[in-house]
Amino acid sequence: MAAETPSLIELASRPVPRYTSYPTAPHFHAGIDALVYRQWLAQLSPCTSLSLYLHVPFCAAMCSYCGCHTKVVRRAEPVLRYRNQLIGEIDLVASATVARKVRHLHWGGGTPSMLGAEGLAAVVDRLALRFDLAADLEHAIELDPRHVSKALAADLRRLGVTRASLGVQDFNPHVQAAIGRVQPYAVVATAVDALREAGIAAISFDLMYGLPGQSVGDVARTIALAATLAPDRIALFGYAHVPWFKTHQRLIDEAALPAPGVRLAQEAEARGRLLALGYEPIGLDHFALPGDPMAQAARTNSLRRNFQGYATDSADALIGFGASAIGQMPQGFVQNATDLAGYGRTVDQGTPATARGLRLSAEDRLRADVITQLMCDMTADLGEAAERFDADPDLFRDDIARLAPLRDHGLVAWDGRRVTVPEAGRPYLRLVAAAFDSHLAQAGRHSRAV
Ligand code: SF4
Repeated sequence: MAAETPSLIELASRPVPRYTSYPTAPHFHAGIDALVYRQWLAQLSPCTSLSLYLHVPFCAAMCSYCGCHTKVVRRAEPVLRYRNQLIGEIDLVASATVARKVRHLHWGGGTPSMLGAEGLAAVVDRLALRFDLAADLEHAIELDPRHVSKALAADLRRLGVTRASLGVQDFNPHVQAAIGRVQPYAVVATAVDALREAGIAAISFDLMYGLPGQSVGDVARTIALAATLAPDRIALFGYAHVPWFKTHQRLIDEAALPAPGVRLAQEAEARGRLLALGYEPIGLDHFALPGDPMAQAARTNSLRRNFQGYATDSADALIGFGASAIGQMPQGFVQNATDLAGYGRTVDQGTPATARGLRLSAEDRLRADVITQLMCDMTADLGEAAERFDADPDLFRDDIARLAPLRDHGLVAWDGRRVTVPEAGRPYLRLVAAAFDSHLAQAGRHSRAV
């Protein structure tokens, strides 16, 4: 290994984007506005398949580790108003495009169930009125296990929900106390039972390492308890401490955060245990049981990456509804206003709430293709990609050189223009992708790589 090669801990501590898009959201700008979005929507065809994302930015209480666009609400009135604005936005978008075919529907937040069964039904009814929802629609919703009742589970099933994603994070009481989210194992187990009894068979868990007060043993215990509930999918995220961006994270005691070496050990412990339990590794940070569609997609190199992380979604365009929601159009990205007042005011005036976005250049498309291949398939043929995009394959010469420190640790290899990430490199995929990010130097602040 070259003397100047950074250590694994130094590499893991480097701030890099999560690459749920390329270029990443900090590069979006106000030049992409409602007028441009309307033009882009008008350019879609009746054959364009759609994936819809609906963002509900409300929660009953704030968890101190939260990295989402959400706020605490205690009154019904703002939630009702927001529901009506979502419906208004659906009408605006549907009137601007002839694309109708919807294959995927995803509710995220926040806590989407804050809309209540009636509110969720009103929005789904309007979607069904304005779009063609596929008979085999994958309809997913993110849920807070503390707010899942038998009645809610039955209502969700009646609405056509097929997958529930539960925020679990950690099962240890002292860690739950440290992150302001107390939900004993029994609460999660009851929620899972209610969902399965209602007929929502596909269950995903979000788990976290790197949390305050969390040890490697705590992670192991969480994995063991999670396994007793047999979720089909598990997303394993490293806690991103970004208090300059999410100010409520200042409630977290920085001195209690695991040291970088402990974070690596936690990730390795969780990964090892999940693989031993029969989960298959998916991309950077997801795991799925072999029969799950995501495991099948990973085996056939048809995995996709979007703003929800990894997806089996092969739609041509992703349309985001709600404050802060991001859309991924064939032409580029659009993001709605993040502030509720700004979002609502614009939609009430009959205009899409697009606040920023980015039009993809030819080179962006090529680099996005390479980064997606690496993040999803762990391999990319740079020569083949350059040929497909009619570009000079030498474009990547400096990018390859940037991979040298990772290669020195056995985290990436290349043979000619074929770059491959071995299993050991999986947790470091963001760093491999970052080598191909020509915008990185101008990007905002990011969370650590692992
Ligand atoms: S429930 Fe989820 S979205 Fe809401 S504050 Fe907690 S972590 Fe954030």
